[in-house]
Amino acid sequence: MMRQYELVERVRAYNPDVDEDRLNRAYVFTVQMHGTQTRASGDPYFSHPVEVAGLMTDLRMDEDTIITALLHDTVEDTLTSIEDVEARFGPEVARLVDGVTKLSKIEAQTEDERAAENLRKFLLAISDDIRVLLVKLADRLHNMRTLHFIKSPEKRRRIAKETMDIYAPLAERIGMYEYMHEMQLLAFEQLEPEGYATITGRLAQIREQGDVRIEEISQKMADAMDRAGLKAKVYGREKHPYSIWKKMQERHVAFEQLTDINAFRVIVDDIESCYRALGVLHRRWQMVPGRFKDFISTPKRNGYRSLHTTVMFAQNMRVEIQIRSADMHQAAEYGLAAHWAYKQDDQPDGQAGWLRDLIEILETSHEPEELLENTRMAMYQDRIFAFTPKGALHQLPKGATPVDFAYAVHTDLGDRAVGAKINGRHVPLRTLLNNGDMVDILTSKAHVPDPAWLNFAVTGKARAAIRRHVRHRERDEMILLGKKIYEEVVERLPAKIGQKALAAAVERLQLKTADELMYAVGAGKISDRRLIVALVPGFDADAIESEWPSQERAISIRGLTPGVAYNLGECCHPIPGDRIVGLRLPDAPVEVHTIHCDKLVSGTDADWVDLSWGQGSDGGAARLRVIVHNRPGMLAEMAGIFGFHKANILNLRMTARDSAFHTFEVDLEVHDLHHLMRIISALRASDAVAQADRLFS
Ligand code: MN
Repeated sequence: MMRQYELVERVRAYNPDVDEDRLNRAYVFTVQMHGTQTRASGDPYFSHPVEVAGLMTDLRMDEDTIITALLHDTVEDTLTSIEDVEARFGPEVARLVDGVTKLSKIEAQTEDERAAENLRKFLLAISDDIRVLLVKLADRLHNMRTLHFIKSPEKRRRIAKETMDIYAPLAERIGMYEYMHEMQLLAFEQLEPEGYATITGRLAQIREQGDVRIEEISQKMADAMDRAGLKAKVYGREKHPYSIWKKMQERHVAFEQLTDINAFRVIVDDIESCYRALGVLHRRWQMVPGRFKDFISTPKRNGYRSLHTTVMFAQNMRVEIQIRSADMHQAAEYGLAAHWAYKQDDQPDGQAGWLRDLIEILETSHEPEELLENTRMAMYQDRIFAFTPKGALHQLPKGATPVDFAYAVHTDLGDRAVGAKINGRHVPLRTLLNNGDMVDILTSKAHVPDPAWLNFAVTGKARAAIRRHVRHRERDEMILLGKKIYEEVVERLPAKIGQKALAAAVERLQLKTADELMYAVGAGKISDRRLIVALVPGFDADAIESEWPSQERAISIRGLTPGVAYNLGECCHPIPGDRIVGLRLPDAPVEVHTIHCDKLVSGTDADWVDLSWGQGSDGGAARLRVIVHNRPGMLAEMAGIFGFHKANILNLRMTARDSAFHTFEVDLEVHDLHHLMRIISALRASDAVAQADRLFS
């Protein structure tokens, strides 16, 4: 176990300004608090936090993080309180320790739920403070290293599985491949003992027999670089046993059939040399098609950069090669943490902390690419993480809605979405998702994407899918509407119009099919009059036109098939400008409600339809509650405000009165939300009025 002075030395080696006294106090504190507690290994418990702190020094973390690592189990497992920690080590450490403690508590929950929940909280932690996550990952890594001491096989398995499913992927996500590989290996050993034994055994055998290949290949590659005048270091290594295992599973092959158990790394000075090295290798050895990947021009999401290729070294011998610069290599091993440590180097005052760095970068970068270049963390700032009910994670841009989420999961799911639940609550599809939301998409087989979704969907995938449907559907809808109009027109004509007359009209209008005609009629490209003349040449359309009902409405609602019947909610009185949602019940007109309507909360079986107001919509009745002071003339004053704003009173009734106040409910005809808000403001500004609010029920 690492001694106190060793730990301090290690921190001082990269951070000469460290407050040694504070570090020492933290060390002593954790030793005292954990007291005589022991680990499964029989070691004193405090050896664990000390080792975790040691792992943090490898990442050259700042003083607060080292102290957090030392204290990370004190609040959870000893009598220490977070207030204690704050009093002794300040608010920053207290906040970090609290973060780690919260994460650990979640582990105590039940199986499935926990897995998802864990992941969720972790990701929340990422967006909060990455150091919490780093300590947690180091904590898990050390626990995995000592996992074999735990007696219960079930417990070992459970921990290993959790590591494989949650922690290793998290390490990968922030680019900490070293942590990821070691966690995977240790978990693999528990979860697939036979596979683990076979592969490690075979690898050892090959090593024992003196595998000259790695050396030979490395040397040949180095020679090739040399001849090309390229400065490069070539490293050969065995692939990780778990990677080999995965490959065997994926390809359904035995170990012996794997020709690429070795992997090589070429480390060069700069980006330019990476591509030159690639050229040298491809000229000398034939590349395996389909295996080249350029993660330099297109880095992985976690910021990983390298060139990957596979060449045929000898007959039947594939060799995988990663080409990268020294900088990229550092970053690839320790990901975000490496980046963080570099920043510390750049700033000798050392205490700036990643958060300040990040803020600085956010403030000074103008281009999105620049942001990504500068910090791996930036990518978490413009993304949110949301989960399916089964705990599958989806990354989405900020501003994403359940529609985006549905399409991210599967195109079919998006196409058939009718509603959504976020964290168990029914919400409209336009609701913005937050980090950590669990999103349950409600579907209906008959449903198709709604054009109104284009008003709020943000991801390319969702928008493209919706547009595709909209194009098809608009046509279908127009045809339907056209048919309706056509039928109305035909009904009003004195002559009977059959298929023949229709066919003739199609021809006269120089169209090809009846559908084309219906579409043109529906889309308003052919007026009723032109249609009549086409159907019955020479007919005097003016004679009947005036009797026809107007097709126009002052308001229109987007998101419904044109012509579909709807009712504005009697409960909440939607007016143009309100956010609205439709409730669709079988065989009934769609009910349009404001987003605030109680009816939406009281859980009906109706499908939710996302709606919005069509352009130029105007007119509606809103309900207000106005409480006025009980004094002469106050009613006239209230009515005067309505009159001044040119709003008609449709209904007015007194609902309560006492000696001081009279309460009225007023149904008011207004243009739109804007109009209503001006009226409410005027009411509130008036001396006569004590209170004025809109009612949604
Ligand atoms: Mn721990």
